[in-house]
Amino acid sequence: MKKNDIFPLTITDMGTAGEGIGHYEGMTFFVSGAVAGDTILAGVTKLKKKYGYARVVEITNPSEFRIDPPCSVSKQCGGCQIQHLNYEKQLELKTDKVRENMIRIGGFTEEEVSEIMEPIIGMENPFRYRNKAQFPVGCDKNGDVVMGFYAVRSHRIIPVNDCLLGVPVNEEILKLVKEYMTESGADAYNEETRKGLLRHVLIRYGFTSKQIMVCVIANGKKLPKEELLVEKLKDIPGMTSIVLNTNEKNTNVILGETTRTLWGEDTITDSIGNVKFKISAKSFYQVNPIQTEKLYGKALDYADLTGNETVWDLYCGIGTISLFLAQKAKAVYGVEIVPQAIADAKENAALNGMENARFIAGKAEEVLPAFYNGDRAVKQELLGAAAAEGAMHPDVIVVDPPRKGCDEACLSTMVQMQPKNIVYVSCDPATLARDLKYLREHGYVPEKLCPVDQFPNTMHIENVCRLTRMEKEKS
Ligand code: SAH
Repeated sequence: MKKNDIFPLTITDMGTAGEGIGHYEGMTFFVSGAVAGDTILAGVTKLKKKYGYARVVEITNPSEFRIDPPCSVSKQCGGCQIQHLNYEKQLELKTDKVRENMIRIGGFTEEEVSEIMEPIIGMENPFRYRNKAQFPVGCDKNGDVVMGFYAVRSHRIIPVNDCLLGVPVNEEILKLVKEYMTESGADAYNEETRKGLLRHVLIRYGFTSKQIMVCVIANGKKLPKEELLVEKLKDIPGMTSIVLNTNEKNTNVILGETTRTLWGEDTITDSIGNVKFKISAKSFYQVNPIQTEKLYGKALDYADLTGNETVWDLYCGIGTISLFLAQKAKAVYGVEIVPQAIADAKENAALNGMENARFIAGKAEEVLPAFYNGDRAVKQELLGAAAAEGAMHPDVIVVDPPRKGCDEACLSTMVQMQPKNIVYVSCDPATLARDLKYLREHGYVPEKLCPVDQFPNTMHIENVCRLTRMEKEKS
């Protein structure tokens, strides 16, 4: 076989970027734009020893799972990868991904996985679920301002007025910001020349509170005619906070260090279940509030709390899971690497009148071992004398790490602390499977595993797993 050869291919699976995967004469082929169930004529674009890449030359028999994507730019835009698959099939694909990872990376058998897997929790309406949107600002070929999303693997902006994953008010806000730019002379930032002002527009919407925050990210500390921007935006129903964030660096990171409030509050408030949260422009906050409530509900269910338990919540962000658990536990200790998030977590605990949650800034893989192995002074410094004893051997440890999963130093200390249960919340099935393998080898058996679809129409999938400590057999 060689480049440009054309051959028939049946697509049986889909990869992490939403590409179709098929097998032909012992080789695996990755085909962008093809979906599971398609039969196609594929053209080889690149060949390696055991695998290759191909393009769709012709769809000879379209998959029964294909649908017309409701968004007109779903193909070009890098945001959604599988909008052209019906939702039922999306959920099935994601479930398969999780199973596959558990078997291939986690070393579990098919039967073991089937025994613990609960049905995936999907959405009733898999659109309009995001509470946060970040639109890059730039210019098109004619010099006109465009806002939208980056194309796949590039920084070319695809103009999108109404992203179907976001809330409808985003469109109105973008239109008004554009108007403001024309009338004030504020120009768009250019990544190549590093000149120009407006870089991004970030919009947050509280699904429960209906409060809106607009954050304009600029290559500068001031905007021309700031009052004009405020004038245009402030009467939108729900508008609560208009802020300017300054980012003068040559970087892909969207937000800069400093934020100045132009109008209204510095934060918006939203709630998940009974717990209220203050959210600033820079806070990490789960983007799908409808599914987050289901995810946290599952985590709470798996933690099996009665009110007497001591719980650690590692990778706690602004304390969302911690405070959810604190409603039903004796004490909760949250650990998080970002100091500002810890400050927010403390404020959120106070906002909800919860005195049984304490928060520590630092890396989970450093704080936990230091606490467990350290001398009395370290413990007291971290948690105060009274609490330290119970925290040495908590009843439950909850973790919710970023995609790279937990550091081994963190896992090994968790095991030494001998909690009865571990609840693992994960946004990456591969690192989840890797960490579950380690935990099983060290006495913690997964009992239940539930995928929750936090990100419909993308390939991402969240999971929550409950592990129980096996008593060592006496010999
Ligand atoms: N549980 C929270 C946040 C989960 S996201 C929620 O549901 O909202 C993962 C969090 O882990 C982020 O807030 C990130 O800042 C934090 N983090 C990343 N690496 C870390 C580390 N090594 N130790 C502790 N926290 C870390």
